[in-house]
Amino acid sequence: MTFDTVRTRFAPSPTGYMHVGNLRTALYAYLLAKKNNGTFILRIEDTDQERYVEGAVDIIYNTLRQTGLIWDEGPDIGGPVGPYIQSERMGMFKEYAQQLVESGHAYYCFCDKDRLTELREIQQASGIAPKYDGHCRDLSPEEVQAKLDAGIPYVIRQKMPREGTTSFEDEVFGTITVENSTLDDQILIKTDGMPTYNFANVVDDHTMGITHVIRGNEYLSSTPKYNLLYQAFGWEIPTYIHCSPVMKDSTHKLSKRNGDASFEDLIAKGYLTEAVINYIALLGWAPKGENEIFTLEELCQEFDVSGISKSPAIFDTQKLKAINGAY
Ligand code: GLU
Ligand code: ZN
Repeated sequence: MTFDTVRTRFAPSPTGYMHVGNLRTALYAYLLAKKNNGTFILRIEDTDQERYVEGAVDIIYNTLRQTGLIWDEGPDIGGPVGPYIQSERMGMFKEYAQQLVESGHAYYCFCDKDRLTELREIQQASGIAPKYDGHCRDLSPEEVQAKLDAGIPYVIRQKMPREGTTSFEDEVFGTITVENSTLDDQILIKTDGMPTYNFANVVDDHTMGITHVIRGNEYLSSTPKYNLLYQAFGWEIPTYIHCSPVMKDSTHKLSKRNGDASFEDLIAKGYLTEAVINYIALLGWAPKGENEIFTLEELCQEFDVSGISKSPAIFDTQKLKAINGAY
């Protein structure tokens, strides 16, 4: 299938080096964009300072440059400039959340830590999954104003529907449905005025005109919440392509923390960059014909979302060796 306008992004959090699973996400986003004469964007999601790892951003740039997955756009649109750095865009998010408050899709919550801790303890003791109880959902505008005037700290929460279900179609996993009653009124803006990870991700994807979101399937269950945000804003929902993880063996995912299968490591072991990219493309994606040896340009032609597998892929050094030997 080909599309008229395709804008994809790779949105890594700089929390360590890049393993082949991370690089595969970047590769698929790049291939889908290039196959459709589209645009591939790089956005560094560095808002979570606690998880930030020094040097991780440079690893991302270097790996993408070395493998030829060059992003097309930056703050000064056009050309291989950029990329977007989420922490440099913090100012705009609160205004977006306030729009949702005005349209009735979000609300100010003034609950303090003690109340929320107590609530969580009560819920845990009764075996209920922790969830905000909607205490501030129905405050009158006068009550809200009085609290704001009194300088009480607040967060902005999304007003989730309480009845019915929310569904979406994933290109790989098919229809995903959640019961709205399970959705938490998630925080969009924190007490310090900064966006939460989920909120920044959605606003950024929309404002960057992303048409196809390609990412790991650990985000499948959050996607209905993201979509409710799109709907609340009246924005068009992107096409979703969730990919199963790359596994170290049948039970363990590759992990950044354990130093599994990093790109740098494979290069240091003597594998050729082209062979590694070729191998990574085949980790969870099946080309239509028999041929398995592809340059990056050929992959751009061959790639098709319908070939992405739902099953986890296992990192297999023998196969990598075989591909490397073909170069
Ligand atoms: N920043 C996320 C990560 O590195 C990716 C989120 C996304 O692609 O939507 O896991
Ligand atoms: Zn509250």
